[in-house]
Amino acid sequence: MRMSQLWAPTLRETPSEAEVISHQLMLRAGFIRRAAAGIYTYLPLAWRVLRKIEQIVREEMDAKGGQEMLMPVVQPAELWQETGRWDEYGDYMFRLKDRHGRDFCLGPTHEELITALMRAEVRSYRQLPLRLYQIANKYRDEPRPRFGLMRGREFIMKDLYSFDRDEEGLDVSYRYMYEAYERIFARCGLTTRAVEADPGEIGGTANHEFMVLADAGEDEVVYCTACDYAANTEKAESAPPPAPAARAETPPAEQVATPGARTIDEVARLLGVEPARLLKTLLYEADGQPVAAVVRGDHELNEVKLKRILGAKTLEMASAERIQSVTGAPVGFSGPVGLKGVRIVADPWAWAVADAVAGANAADAHLIHVQPGRDWQADDIADIRTVQAGDACVRCGAPVAAARGIEVGHVFKLGTRYSEALGATYLDEDGKAKPIVMGSYGIGIGRTMAAIIEQHHDERGIRWPASVAPYHVIVVPVNYEDQRQRQVAERLYEELSAAGVEVVLDDRLERAGVKFNDADLIGFPWRITIGPRALAEDAVEVTSRDGSLQERVPVEEAAAFVREQVRAALSA
Ligand code: ATP
Ligand code: MG
Repeated sequence: MRMSQLWAPTLRETPSEAEVISHQLMLRAGFIRRAAAGIYTYLPLAWRVLRKIEQIVREEMDAKGGQEMLMPVVQPAELWQETGRWDEYGDYMFRLKDRHGRDFCLGPTHEELITALMRAEVRSYRQLPLRLYQIANKYRDEPRPRFGLMRGREFIMKDLYSFDRDEEGLDVSYRYMYEAYERIFARCGLTTRAVEADPGEIGGTANHEFMVLADAGEDEVVYCTACDYAANTEKAESAPPPAPAARAETPPAEQVATPGARTIDEVARLLGVEPARLLKTLLYEADGQPVAAVVRGDHELNEVKLKRILGAKTLEMASAERIQSVTGAPVGFSGPVGLKGVRIVADPWAWAVADAVAGANAADAHLIHVQPGRDWQADDIADIRTVQAGDACVRCGAPVAAARGIEVGHVFKLGTRYSEALGATYLDEDGKAKPIVMGSYGIGIGRTMAAIIEQHHDERGIRWPASVAPYHVIVVPVNYEDQRQRQVAERLYEELSAAGVEVVLDDRLERAGVKFNDADLIGFPWRITIGPRALAEDAVEVTSRDGSLQERVPVEEAAAFVREQVRAALSA
């Protein structure tokens, strides 16, 4: 490819709409353009990268017995109604009607469609296991599409579905996919961490997210500094509180005036106690019913955990009016003592606070000397707090650390949730009909590309790992009008092309600085620079974008030398 022909519309300025590096660089380096919020055109360079990522994914899926196919984007509503997800998906789903008024959606995922296919096609245990996948567009009307390809409304996903006879079969499929994912992300040059994840609305028994640790990540993960435990903060389990030390009996509870003190810090300061001695009582509406969640003053409530414990479909913070009507007090003075008609869920750490301070359910007042069991009761004592950096690991007790992560992949044990809802059964050896045991496994191809840039860039641009670079090498004659430089450049370009190296020749009549800047911005892993000084010695400069290589190589040997660099990197 000649640079004069390559369509890569680079930009000088960083577009103001781009907040994260990967989005900025993809726009600036001419990889993508926005068509609508969360909907992008992939220009030639991006498409080359995406196809390489897809190819890596394909090879690793095939190596684990995956078979590629392609399912429709447009899916009939009936299938989704059978599993109940037509309603559950809510506004996330792009919906449409055909000319007869029948309902369809643009597939946000394909469990329904493929399970219905299995229902129609699979009869016997002899047809299992099956591992089927596709690489195709998904559609989700995200409330906050942002960060370029990281969170789109139309995006490319690889989704594989496994179909097994039983749990043991599923365990094998799951392990295969887990291993495949580790290989895929490593081949893409990514450092990932598999973390335990919340099952969310898909449901199921076990699941892991593959996280790229990066500041641009929208997820937070905690991981143990000593053992293997790692989990999405949404779901990370908190270790139980230490058993309380023997202590003097708590004096009777007493109401004290705390005018205007509504926050934990304000109350703690006013009363001169540690925030850890306070109870934080938060009022919610779960499917319309009032719920009070009680956590220790210095802890954060985890709404995902609370929602799961309640088994609620919807969970919202109660409005100020609702708080007033339920507690009899304005916002900021709620407490569990004497609260009526409200389900109270207490975190074990809150329940463990003897002699606590809590809101008095009266304006400008708190209670001191509040004792669990004596002064207040809980309907549920359950882990509802968010694990924080420094907390004890639930497995080994060592402190955990927190980091931001980008979820690039997700592996899921679905069990029989979909096969039962849709009636996808097979006949076992004993002639009995049994539901097929399923798993589902997704990788965001565009998000993976964005994550690679987040992990591989510098202030000058992208630094593609060789495995996914749009091209491997750029040949840059400092002055293309110089006859000797041009001759050498054309010759190396031809030699490398003939050797199967993906090479771009910068044949533009631009200043050297402009060409170098573009090469760095686009992120070619290797650059061959042909300039007067080296040429005087019949040599060229070979540099790598990551700075690890800078060598003067004789013109005669340059093509072979670079080809060997590329070969070694690709087979690593
Ligand atoms: P998120 O929590 O980030 O919204 P998800 O858990 O809903 O994602 P899955 O259903 O697990 O996503 O989809 C599998 C993979 O598809 C994700 O791991 C991610 O890489 C990718 N993906 C999901 N949503 C998007 C999106 N809006 N834009 C780009 N990629 C996405
Ligand atoms: Mg997910």
